[in-house]
Amino acid sequence: LIQIDEEKIHSTINEKKPRSVALDGPDGILKKIQSCAHRLSEKYQIPVYVIGDTSWGSCDLNIHAAETLGVDILFNIGHTIAMEKFGDKVVMIDAFDDVDFGKIAKICAIKLKKKNFSKISLVTNSQYLQSLQKVKEIFEYHGYEVVIGRGKGHLNDAQVFGCEFYPAYDSKDKVDAYVFLGQSIFHSTSIAIVTQKPTFMLDPYFNEFSEINDIAQKLEKKAILSVFKAQDAQTIGIIIGLKEGQFAKIKALELKRLLEEEGKKILLIAMTEITDERLLSFQDIDAFVQVACPRIGTDNHFHKPVLSVPQAISLIKLLKGESTEGFLQIKHWL
Ligand code: SF4
Repeated sequence: LIQIDEEKIHSTINEKKPRSVALDGPDGILKKIQSCAHRLSEKYQIPVYVIGDTSWGSCDLNIHAAETLGVDILFNIGHTIAMEKFGDKVVMIDAFDDVDFGKIAKICAIKLKKKNFSKISLVTNSQYLQSLQKVKEIFEYHGYEVVIGRGKGHLNDAQVFGCEFYPAYDSKDKVDAYVFLGQSIFHSTSIAIVTQKPTFMLDPYFNEFSEINDIAQKLEKKAILSVFKAQDAQTIGIIIGLKEGQFAKIKALELKRLLEEEGKKILLIAMTEITDERLLSFQDIDAFVQVACPRIGTDNHFHKPVLSVPQAISLIKLLKGESTEGFLQIKHWL
């Protein structure tokens, strides 16, 4: 079950005495956030707003919404990161899933031995960070050397985002395989793509573990194919995402210059939610580059190619006749 650190919310409200607050977080815990909002408004008798827009990561905090609402504090729940501060208004609140990984970790440790893996690295997302130590001990008990990759920037040790992989990338030459704690195909496939190592996902709810490399390969092929398709585009739309943590105007202008040097006609576009439906309105554009979240094009369906920053760099190299090999085997897909 997901446990929100409500203690921290209460102590912050007691200390700062806000006139109103807002809560937001990922869709998966929105139900819990709603219950929390009811409890807070009853206890403190202040307006408590639940921001219903998406909050995919610590890059997507909806600070603008909080400012428009005029709240004193925005509690962003469920995006545990290694940094505490995000301006004066935002307070990051942990939400951990206390599900037990014991049974599935033991099954996985026994079965991977048969594949002759002896060194593994554990990785996870914010929800399961607190389960790492226990799973590490189980694998060590079964004779494995367990590497916990070092965190960097926003990332804690062993933590990955969908676009940022320092703890996994930095340990890739030291281990035989990766074991990801949690049900996230989104996170585990990117580890497999970046490290090119066997990657297993531990599902504590169904007590199953699965190798994720085939799915990862399909995702990688799709990303490569989009780059090749974009080669023939005459007009390219470069989209600047308007979410605070994804805003990258300078990068967009740099890519504009580089693509224009290769003969492409560029239209600069700004938008908040980048969806196929919205892009269909841009009928004269043959392909898009978006400098917001690198997973938008790879993990969603679009009628036209939608490239992330590494894909756009790969496209530029392709147009110059240079090699583009390994463009996704990097620490950060930005
Ligand atoms: S993958 Fe996208 S949503 Fe997740 S942290 Fe990166 S930019 Fe944000």
